[in-house]
Amino acid sequence: MLTKIQTATLMGIEGHAVTVETDLHNGMPGFNIVGLADTTIREACQRIKPAIMNCGYLFPRERVTVNLVPAGSPKEGSHFDLPIALGVMMLGQDTESLKHTAFLGEVSLDGTIHSVKGVLPLAICLRRAGIKRLVLPASNAEEASILEDLEILPVTTLREAVAIAEGEQMGTPYLRKETPGIPKTEYDYSQVVGQESVKRAITIGAAGAHGILMIGSPGSGKSMMAKRIPSILPELTYEEKLEITGIYSVAGLLDDHRPVIEERPFRSPHHTITKVGLLGGGARPRPGELSLAHRGVLFLDELGEFDSKVIDSLRQPIEDQVVHITRQMGDVLFPSQVMLVVAANPCKCGNLWDDKKVCSCTSQQLESHRRKLMGPFADRIDMHIKVNPVTKENLIRADQMAAGMSSAQMREMVLAARERQEHRFRGTGYRDNGSLDERGIKAYCVLTGAGEQLLREAFGRLGLTMRGYHKILKMARTVADLEGADRIAEQHVAEALMYRPDIWEQA
Ligand SMILES: [Zn+2]
Repeated sequence: MLTKIQTATLMGIEGHAVTVETDLHNGMPGFNIVGLADTTIREACQRIKPAIMNCGYLFPRERVTVNLVPAGSPKEGSHFDLPIALGVMMLGQDTESLKHTAFLGEVSLDGTIHSVKGVLPLAICLRRAGIKRLVLPASNAEEASILEDLEILPVTTLREAVAIAEGEQMGTPYLRKETPGIPKTEYDYSQVVGQESVKRAITIGAAGAHGILMIGSPGSGKSMMAKRIPSILPELTYEEKLEITGIYSVAGLLDDHRPVIEERPFRSPHHTITKVGLLGGGARPRPGELSLAHRGVLFLDELGEFDSKVIDSLRQPIEDQVVHITRQMGDVLFPSQVMLVVAANPCKCGNLWDDKKVCSCTSQQLESHRRKLMGPFADRIDMHIKVNPVTKENLIRADQMAAGMSSAQMREMVLAARERQEHRFRGTGYRDNGSLDERGIKAYCVLTGAGEQLLREAFGRLGLTMRGYHKILKMARTVADLEGADRIAEQHVAEALMYRPDIWEQA
């Protein structure tokens, strides 16, 4: 009699339910897997047979055929070992009682069950498909237990899994560990002294989801400030945690110490990163740094050092908020909604703005660096901020003033401004001011008379491009939201103009 065992496969970070059908035929002994299985699954034959025999069970002498349903969609992953092994071991038994139970796990030759990647998205799709109980490797249990309404049954050996499948044992449902509150990041803006104007700009960027380019000498604290941005963003919702944890799960970046992603990601890839490292890819596509930063911050430290081609490949996926990976087995999508934060030195050697040091760059180097800071990639970034080094005078002034803004204070402003945007954009398809296109800008960036006049003057005087003009309007919208104003007034436009692209040349 045909056995049917439930499991799932991954396409990118999406899971799809799969039924493993196993049957016996007369003829030459053999073990066949059909139904668009990739090499990891076909290799399972070699692992499963010895594993079953090493556990003291018999392997059928007839011809075994495994069919993966639906046959038309590609399937991959070593987690198919367990459902396939069970399909064989259950031959001759009725598997009707297992239609609400799913299995996944990699089986080693001695029958030990090992952890696999992508458990959370697999579990999510199985729950959606009506699965009530999930049997999986013990080391993946904590990750899957974040889901409600799904019984998690951890196993460490093939024997334990068979006992559950045959109804001999019910298995012990896994109970999620109680986390002692959300671990708070140790980074706080109160630790950044004497940079209040940059902190203000970062507040605007975080409030309206605007990209930020910080230009300043080495040692001016650019990366120190970038690192603290997650501390002023809204806390993740349950759904967002699921989504981000799913991405990290597929990337194989979860472990016992971090089974669930609880905080907004901050990713800072090194400038030697390749296009695949940044966007994702590979034979079994893994998400890249861009998608690992999904719903958090992607920080590129020292723009000048990155390969221009690699940087340019980011433009489209950041705008679309999704990475498309084309491949033979079918396209894969990885989400990539990030706050982009980029840091750059004013010149290659970094000393251009430093009175006490000498810039050693040739005019050619200065020009090529300038091209990067003014190029099409930088031009897509809303806010350009000049970061001055903290001088003694600054510090003394900061000392005399009340303590600077803390992350909690900045966050409160960000949340209020985001709430206004959420309210305004409900049902419009827009999410925040940073995502507004030309049509959205026309509809939602309404100026007062004085605001309009200032913007028109600036347009002529500063020689703004149309893109520049739109960026100023979007930023001014956020400044107005931070103030709780419905219309964009003169002072909002004036502040937004401080973050225009050519600002860094006004040294
Ligand atoms: Zn220089």
